[in-house]
Amino acid sequence: MSLFSPVRFAKGVGEKRERAFSRLGVKTVEDLLFFFPRRYEDRRNITPLSALTAGAAVSVVAQVVAFEKRPTSRQGLEVSSILLSDGENVAKAVWFNARKLEDVLVPGVRVALYGKVEMRSGLQLTNPEFEVLDESDPESVGRIVSIYPATAGLSPKWVRRVVSSALELYLSEVEDFVPAEIREKYNFSALRESVMELHRPQGRESWLRARNRLAFDELFLLQTGLLLRKKRRASAQKVSGPLRAGEKFKNFRRSLPFQLTKAQDRCIREVASDLASQVPMNRLLQGDVSSGKTVVAMAALVIAVDGGAQAAFMAPTEILAQQHFFRLKALLAKLDIRVDLLTGSLSQGARNKTLEGVSSGDTRILVGTHAIFGPKVSFKELGLVIVDEQHRFGVLQKNALLAKTRSPHVLVMTATPIPRTLTLSIYGDLDVSLLDELPAGRKPVKTHRLDFSPSQQTRLLNFVRDTARQGHQIYWVCPIIEESDKLDVTAAYSRFQNLRQELPGLKIALLHGQLPADEKESVMEAFASGETDLLVSTSVVEVGVDVSNATVMVIEDAVRFGVAQLHQLRGRVGRGEGESHCILLTGKTTPEGIARLDAMSSTCDGFKIAEMDLRQRGPGEICGIRQHGVTDFRVADLVRDRKLLEMARQEAAALVEKDPELENARPLAEALMSRLGPTLELAGTA
Ligand code: ADP
Ligand code: MG
Repeated sequence: MSLFSPVRFAKGVGEKRERAFSRLGVKTVEDLLFFFPRRYEDRRNITPLSALTAGAAVSVVAQVVAFEKRPTSRQGLEVSSILLSDGENVAKAVWFNARKLEDVLVPGVRVALYGKVEMRSGLQLTNPEFEVLDESDPESVGRIVSIYPATAGLSPKWVRRVVSSALELYLSEVEDFVPAEIREKYNFSALRESVMELHRPQGRESWLRARNRLAFDELFLLQTGLLLRKKRRASAQKVSGPLRAGEKFKNFRRSLPFQLTKAQDRCIREVASDLASQVPMNRLLQGDVSSGKTVVAMAALVIAVDGGAQAAFMAPTEILAQQHFFRLKALLAKLDIRVDLLTGSLSQGARNKTLEGVSSGDTRILVGTHAIFGPKVSFKELGLVIVDEQHRFGVLQKNALLAKTRSPHVLVMTATPIPRTLTLSIYGDLDVSLLDELPAGRKPVKTHRLDFSPSQQTRLLNFVRDTARQGHQIYWVCPIIEESDKLDVTAAYSRFQNLRQELPGLKIALLHGQLPADEKESVMEAFASGETDLLVSTSVVEVGVDVSNATVMVIEDAVRFGVAQLHQLRGRVGRGEGESHCILLTGKTTPEGIARLDAMSSTCDGFKIAEMDLRQRGPGEICGIRQHGVTDFRVADLVRDRKLLEMARQEAAALVEKDPELENARPLAEALMSRLGPTLELAGTA
């Protein structure tokens, strides 16, 4: 019996409860020790019921005096309510459609409740959490009580008891993997004490110290893992040959229609120097919407070709892949480089021709969707892979792709800037190039929020008409409807019909994901060439699309989009010299929705918006990293712990530099293998 035994062997846990625990991520006895309360309830000084005020979240302890359950006028809705008394005053608590409360909330028992106070026909607690108190259980009354994450099949009282007994039996076996120098440098409290403090806090100060120490541990472990992986990859893998810039690249630079920004110049140099080395590049190019990432990618592609390799450029949507393809073709026409396109909806003939070119080596650059890594595609000499809008693919998928090929150089680009905490956690083993400068002459996009009432509608349509008269173009984006492509299309189609009626003089086109590829292509072409005035679209134009003559972006029902997505959409305009506008339409919405839109309107800085997005949605939702698991921390929090993360990164870097085999840090090496080994694929590289 050890720390790493399955949790069912811990005292009091059996197979049934083990299943319940595993839903909470608790698999081993060690997990149980690190299964921390999500909040604490002070049951020493009980809030008297007379002190309840509407709107407050409170925790109270009182006696149940009556229970009642009755149906309501709404079908299928049942209300259970109890009358509570603390000896002096009474209050009510109600639950909707809660099952079997009558079995536990019997008159006479004492309960602790936690929830929000509402003013209805009197003050009441609505849907509070509760726990029936057992006066003989010292852990549930008269003290600060730990409230653990809950799941069906585990009663709070029981969880507290099991954790307590595990602490008693196994806490002494927990080993500190943070090297002593680091612990001393930051004056960390001891690991075992810290774990104990989180379960049974002594006070605010000591709790915070313990919490920060444990958060540091998690961040430090991940950073060490990422940096080790980076280091080992660099020493283990060799590329087939360094790729050096030559004539073609020189010509490419000369033929660019604009002067590169300083940031672009710097990023291209960073990429070029990676390509010229023996170690495969693993670089992330970050830059705000319209900072000009594409030209950096193109430079890399040309250098790869100069160096004698084939290169692949992958985009998340067909529309974007086509756009990259046409741009590249135009730019490379004079350079005598064969570029081909491969997407899922190519005709069989065209597809075969491309596949042949790729395997014979005649195709030097292949642009496409994820189809370019399909089973039939085999490169003759692939030297570079560029992934545009990496966040759209998700981390796992990228790894699967790269497993197919022999250590090519890899450049990934993200459209939405990612907060630094996330970059470090997800891409912590990549080098980063930052495009922190927009091309000259860009003006911030003016953002307006508009209630879509009939009178405002007339104003908006006039504005759209004027914009078109002045020779500029307009995007009109229809909302995402419940994740259903079909409904999206229906909504976009009826808006398209409606605008054609309202704006008879304008050339209006419709774009959505379900159009056949060649139609998408011709719609986009007509818009890019300026032939179409107004493009009605679903959110498929969100990423990457680049038409610099478009100056107005109308987004319908804008509250349905996340802030980062809105920023992306807004980034479709403001790409030329003219003044641009983004108009966020709202119908009925909540104050939170409005606040979100106003916050996003107040800045055009993608990094600020990304931070906002991280706070609102959490890391899992942002980069498609939910399944990846590296950010599933028990204590650390990527919104709050930025400083700790920087500290952990620094310490991890110093350690990996000094002791790359972790010879003097065996506990750390073991913790890494057992906790992160599989996720980071560390096994085999050691
Ligand atoms: P993103 O970073 O969003 O992918 P793009 O690469 O699509 O941005 O570039 C946005 C627009 O800016 C394109 O029309 C591109 O031609 C233009 N552009 C890029 N770099 C410069 C520059 N240095 N000067 C002027 N325009 C530029
Ligand atoms: Mg782009």
